[in-house]
Amino acid sequence: MIDALPPLRDVIRTHDLRAKKSFGQNFLLDLNLTARIARAAGDLQGSDILEVGPGPGGLTRGLLAEGARKVLAIEKDHRCMAALAEIADAYPGRLQLIEGDALDVDPLAHLTPPVKVVANLPYNVGTELLIRWMTPAQWPPFWDSLTLMFQREVAERIVARPGSKAYGRLALMVQWRADARVVLHLPPEAFTPPPKVSSAVVHITRLTEPRFPADARVLERVVAAAFNQRRKMLRAALRGLHPRIEELLEQAGIAPTARAEEISLERFCALARALAAEVQTR
Ligand code: SAM
Repeated sequence: MIDALPPLRDVIRTHDLRAKKSFGQNFLLDLNLTARIARAAGDLQGSDILEVGPGPGGLTRGLLAEGARKVLAIEKDHRCMAALAEIADAYPGRLQLIEGDALDVDPLAHLTPPVKVVANLPYNVGTELLIRWMTPAQWPPFWDSLTLMFQREVAERIVARPGSKAYGRLALMVQWRADARVVLHLPPEAFTPPPKVSSAVVHITRLTEPRFPADARVLERVVAAAFNQRRKMLRAALRGLHPRIEELLEQAGIAPTARAEEISLERFCALARALAAEVQTR
């Protein structure tokens, strides 16, 4: 038992929280498992936690029981608010609830650094928020780490290395400015109701500076163009970026006949720098 609150199955029954597909609801009801996910976020004491999509509050309870200084939880489904309020009562002053769509709410006003983000979200919302959190106007971002549940295939894309099928924009965007690893695999049966696919928790820790220098927008353009036509040789896939792209590829240490999948983050950054220098001198 991690706290004195009722088991989650009782909470769901009492508040009539039958999972709704429209909210992407697959709940975690095993409090040992939610405590494990909370621990995967690292030492929570002395950190504020942003939790998106707490639902009936299994992960929220894990985060509070593991010692989070404060949890700010944003939930879209009004039906969950009464169940979450009971958790807030059990942990006075440590759980702040916001009813709303996490894509519209700016959590910054409510958080004090250091901040960790932890969430078990519907997969589409999770990917959209990950992209936002990885591409803020300024780096370093407001968070120190992100501990997020994804469908397993997306988790593999986030941590992928060059030479693998999963390697692409998502891996490069995340790994440019953060370390990412898969910390937990979960079978469908871990959830109620079980989703169709397996899931995995990814832990992402930000770097203070990007791993290799590059302009964020130029790097994103290069990577997007390279992987939009991932089967083509780079000299063809990137033709639209610069009239002398072969020369710039060679300058960046990339064979013009190579394909996007083979190219390391370091080489993509070198190419982004070569392109940016061309624009500046023109
Ligand atoms: N965290 C809970 C758990 O682990 O049992 C619930 C997980 S369930 C996969 C996703 C939760 O996110 C649901 O409670 C759903 O209502 C909520 N949700 C979905 N879209 C949301 C959004 N855009 N903003 C905030 N919450 C959202």
